[in-house]
Amino acid sequence: MTYRITLLPGDGIGPEITNATVRVLEATGIKFEWDVYTVGESAISKYGTPLPDETINSIRKNKVALKGPVTTPIGQGFRSVNVALRKNLDLYACLRPCKSYKGVATTLYKDIDIVIVRENTEDLYIGIEFAKGTPEANHLYEFITKHFSGYLRKDAGYSIKTISEFGARRIVKFAFDYARKYKRQKVTVVTKANIMKYTDGLFLTIARQVAGEYPDIVFEEKLVDALSMQLVKEPRAFDVLVMPNLYGDIISDLCAGLIGGLGLAPGANIGDGAAIFEPTHGSAPKYTGMNKVNPMAQMLSAVLMLRHLGEEKAADRMENAIAAVIAEGKNVTYDLRKNRNEPSVGTSQVADAVIKAMG
Ligand code: NAD
Repeated sequence: MTYRITLLPGDGIGPEITNATVRVLEATGIKFEWDVYTVGESAISKYGTPLPDETINSIRKNKVALKGPVTTPIGQGFRSVNVALRKNLDLYACLRPCKSYKGVATTLYKDIDIVIVRENTEDLYIGIEFAKGTPEANHLYEFITKHFSGYLRKDAGYSIKTISEFGARRIVKFAFDYARKYKRQKVTVVTKANIMKYTDGLFLTIARQVAGEYPDIVFEEKLVDALSMQLVKEPRAFDVLVMPNLYGDIISDLCAGLIGGLGLAPGANIGDGAAIFEPTHGSAPKYTGMNKVNPMAQMLSAVLMLRHLGEEKAADRMENAIAAVIAEGKNVTYDLRKNRNEPSVGTSQVADAVIKAMG
């Protein structure tokens, strides 16, 4: 069988890590046909938009995409392509496993195995924003001061947080189903429900209801601030974490730090009709074209893709080969060195080593 996959190399370091990953995927023996499309900055010059319709249509048709990171301008310019893709294809579950691999010198802990399930379509990321001084912002000011007695400054901008019962229920269910499928013991719901009672509070209420349907799995509740401290102190106490969008974004990077850095943190965006596999990290523009960065986060995202396709054996082979290369310690990139002066190899040499380790 040949899998037809949409391939989005992305911006910055994206093309290099994607190329390295495709080489390894093809060495697994599984057959792929790649539909290559551009997104992000690289798409603007050709299509005048960072997210051309034909890219979305290809993912819709193929149902599976492997994507490199995309550069998003900060505070101005086009809106995040990632957020648009997740919204457009309703990829509501962001899955980010953070697992220790033996031999990583840059981690404080040796046996972390945490899976973050981040809600991907709601919360502050929905993009309801009104700039200070616009008629919409002034209208909101009038509305809020009429209905809310607290003090509000007139020169404020607005970013609006929404969490729905539907959105909360499906992501918490996803987390519990994942826990059951992969024989996990515990799901922790993470909110700030003590402060945001009608958004995070709703998320928590729904999580408690869903937990009742899964008596075989331990359910736990944490506030995001307390969780951050506990993750740094004792990350081994956690198993599956489920949370709204913004906390998931931040906690994923924290957990990536716990296992040795962004170079080892894979991710998947999953919906009922399509799934996109991509690393947690961004496009690291300063390293573009230098054959320097770690392709393993992208390779581990491809391992998630293989599992999604039901190719468990190939996924195990590829993951074991990556683990063996890390454990051997000879062919790793700069970010996995404790002392940055120690010799390291480049992106393409990591791919060579992983292919060799697969036999
Ligand atoms: P970043 O993750 O791109 O890079 C931060 C630093 O982490 C880098 O400078 C580098 O030192 C290190 N790093 C990242 N990936 C690495 C790898 N594979 N190997 C070794 N080191 C690595 O974060 P940033 O600098 O905040 O963002 C750069 C751009 O990426 C921004 O435009 C941002 O919006 C975008 N971004 C995109 C995605 C995505 O497409 N999914 C995700 C996050 C950020």
